[in-house]
Amino acid sequence: MEAIVKAKKFVYEFSEGNKSQATLLGGKGANLAEMTRLGIQIPEGFTITTEASIQFYQEGKQLWDALKEQIENALIDLERKTGKSFDDPKKPLLVSVRSGAAISMPGMMDTVLNLGLTTESVKGLAVQTGNPAFAYDSYRRFIQMFADVVKGVPRVFFERELEQVKAVHQLEFDYQLTAPQLMDLVTTYQKIYQRETGEAFPQVPREQLYQAVEAVFRSWNNERAILYRELHHIPDDLGTAVNVQRMVFGNLGNDSGTGVAFTRNPSTGDKELLGEFLINAQGEDVVAGIRTPRPIKDLERLDSSSYHQFLEIARTLENHYEDMQDIEFTIESGKLYLLQTRSGKRTAAAAIKIAVDLVHEGKITKEVAIKRIDTKQLDQLLHPTFDPTAIQQAAQLGKGLGASPGAASGKVYFDAERVASAKHEGIKAILVRKETSAEDLAGMVSSEGILTARGGLTSHAAVVARGIGKCCVVGCSAATIDEEAKTLSFGNQVIHEGDVISIDGASGNVYRGRISKTKAQLTEDYDTFMTWVNDLKTLKVKANADTPKDVLQALQLGAEGVGLCRTEHMFFQKDRIKSMRKMILSHSVSERQVYLNELLEMQRQDFFEMFVALNGKSMTIRLLDPPLHEFLPRDPEEIQTIATEMGQSLTDFEHYMDSLAEVNPMLGHRGVRLGITYPEVSRMQARAIIEGAILAGKEMGKKVEPQIMVPLVGIVSELSYIKKEIEAEIADVFLERGEEIIYKIGTMIEVPRAAITADTIAKEADFFSFGTNDLTQMGFGFSRDDAGKFLQEYEDKNLLSPNPFHTIDVEGIGKLVEMAVQLGRSVKPNIELGVCGEHGGDPESINFFHKLGLEYVSCSPFRVPIARLAAAKAVLAKV
Ligand code: ADP
Ligand code: MG
Ligand code: MG
Repeated sequence: MEAIVKAKKFVYEFSEGNKSQATLLGGKGANLAEMTRLGIQIPEGFTITTEASIQFYQEGKQLWDALKEQIENALIDLERKTGKSFDDPKKPLLVSVRSGAAISMPGMMDTVLNLGLTTESVKGLAVQTGNPAFAYDSYRRFIQMFADVVKGVPRVFFERELEQVKAVHQLEFDYQLTAPQLMDLVTTYQKIYQRETGEAFPQVPREQLYQAVEAVFRSWNNERAILYRELHHIPDDLGTAVNVQRMVFGNLGNDSGTGVAFTRNPSTGDKELLGEFLINAQGEDVVAGIRTPRPIKDLERLDSSSYHQFLEIARTLENHYEDMQDIEFTIESGKLYLLQTRSGKRTAAAAIKIAVDLVHEGKITKEVAIKRIDTKQLDQLLHPTFDPTAIQQAAQLGKGLGASPGAASGKVYFDAERVASAKHEGIKAILVRKETSAEDLAGMVSSEGILTARGGLTSHAAVVARGIGKCCVVGCSAATIDEEAKTLSFGNQVIHEGDVISIDGASGNVYRGRISKTKAQLTEDYDTFMTWVNDLKTLKVKANADTPKDVLQALQLGAEGVGLCRTEHMFFQKDRIKSMRKMILSHSVSERQVYLNELLEMQRQDFFEMFVALNGKSMTIRLLDPPLHEFLPRDPEEIQTIATEMGQSLTDFEHYMDSLAEVNPMLGHRGVRLGITYPEVSRMQARAIIEGAILAGKEMGKKVEPQIMVPLVGIVSELSYIKKEIEAEIADVFLERGEEIIYKIGTMIEVPRAAITADTIAKEADFFSFGTNDLTQMGFGFSRDDAGKFLQEYEDKNLLSPNPFHTIDVEGIGKLVEMAVQLGRSVKPNIELGVCGEHGGDPESINFFHKLGLEYVSCSPFRVPIARLAAAKAVLAKV
């Protein structure tokens, strides 16, 4: 027997679908279906599925017979339900054609209204409604929209004509146009259409419909849409649906109108209906801004029955969807119709308030509330943003990569020192550089924000800015920076030193001049929400903090300890760098010891203060890590001074400095390798840590248990060697002080060899902390500092995405982590495991670390709330 293949269903009437079918029917279509099911007044119609739009491409970008047949059947049905027809100019069926993908996507085709009108049927509509002005108004709108949306004819060609007619007749508003004026306009519009497309305006409604449907399908692959999908990681094979719906008319007179409303205030989250409407208007007149719409409350006076009905429907929809809704409606001669509902876009503050309120109202659970808040939104909440109205008037100069969120305005300076001194003078400054390096740190700290022309999201500027919570835009390749001439140019626009610019670290936008800001505000609702987050998550979130000030900041943002204290950052401070330099440039151990003693004093005090600030919470301190030459002076005068102070000749001194330079410092003499060459440095640091901890313990009357972390271990013998040195020094301290405390010695796992031999290393280590930056760098063989230059190309060519320095590469580097976790636990089941790389603040990576069952992640203080939320979401993702 021959199998009967049932034709695939590509067309659904609104009454056939429901809200769970957004993938098939698109968001708009699924919600129109759902509202129809709820018995809410929706103009009848049908949805052509997203699958049809995919098939469209396989059919050589044209509608195929089977689809046309299904559309035809749906049309017959629609004609029957409405008592109107495409074929009867006396009772014309008019429809809107509305695109709608599963995920709302600006950049796709706009809506076409009043489709079905022809030179014949417009007369019928005029007679039928007794309102020729309305009929011709609808027709001229249709011609313009069809030309614009389906044929790409610029709207201005039509708008110019409209403005001219209004000027000639001295009219202020479109709705004041008379029928004869509108008829003339229609004739003019048709001529424009003919001129621009080389075709007459189509006079067969079915033909109009097919062309519009094809245009929606094609718009799925227009440039704007492709770019939008790329930016938002939306798959290309989702496709878009098309909704065909009977028109209802808001432009039928003064008892008609159209509007939009939010069931709660989208900027504050307050529980109040917020909306606007226009009388005698159609479609997007409300958003177009030609006439000023009136607040929804005014509707009560004008049409009390529609108003109260609308309130009731708004309430029903919000309860049904259990979320704030964004609703579009039209009133036709006193009769209310809903045209769209969807979850409303909202500011971060409103998102938190609405979620918390909905939980308190018993409408959603805490888990749902947590699912609904996006980590990106939370990020927004923690940083100031530009005033949304002010930004519209601002002059944009260019766009880079938003590397660290926030908004900053200030005078442009091209060197870090100038920025630091500006701060002393009370001047707000933006540090502008081609790229930054360790030397710029002080200037970065003093700045309002940082702009670099080069570098990616993990460049020095980006990492440091996120660490210190400064707004930062990197990789602004449209900018030309001349550090000599002190100019920043975008094309022919030149910004000189001292000129004011504004940068948005979330969007990456750069503007000329100052823009007013709205402050970040952490409300009571935020606190409530974050308590729920804490209750749910199992992964601990610690912070990377290098100074007592950082520690306090981190604690305030909810850090559960310090997972990474990078001691070298302490040495860059002005009064200390000299001792550090002399220590490095010493020729003998005894000479070095003098300077080490100076450094010991400073480090002990730092650790003491940090332990006190932590008040019993844990701290993991990493021993000196970067290559030594990074600390050396570059300025000839400084070199001379130090040489003199150390009693050496300049030539000898410079020669020695040269000998420290390395071809490939990142893979050179750094990390544990320094400790092996200079064990006295590791010993000094261990002493400072233990003494600081003992003193802090006394001060607080609480035990402090420091964790000492050895960086860059690849071979277990490296760790054993250093461990012996450190333990010996600590034993001395205990003896001298007549007091002992508990401490741990562990290692970072950041060299691939360490991950592979983690079982052996675990025998010597009390804990592992995954340094995923270096692990990624060495695992891929990508230099973190240079990879930005080519990784974008990798992303563009779909070779590697996302950037592995940003989100952990689960397949490769993640496997190394997983392997080390298993090997480590196989010898030491209770070994403490955490992550201290940049990935510790990245939501997707956190999800992975949660799945591995790690104990904590550590990230920059300002990422702590985001990491907490991500950790809670990871719990929910599991079930
Ligand atoms: P968008 O996705 O841009 O919001 P819509 O498809 O929602 O586009 O259409 C925009 C507006 O057009 C709607 O808000 C509504 O005012 C109007 N509109 C769409 N379909 C109809 C219709 N069948 N009858 C009356 N107005 C409609
Ligand atoms: Mg639109
Ligand atoms: Mg809409």
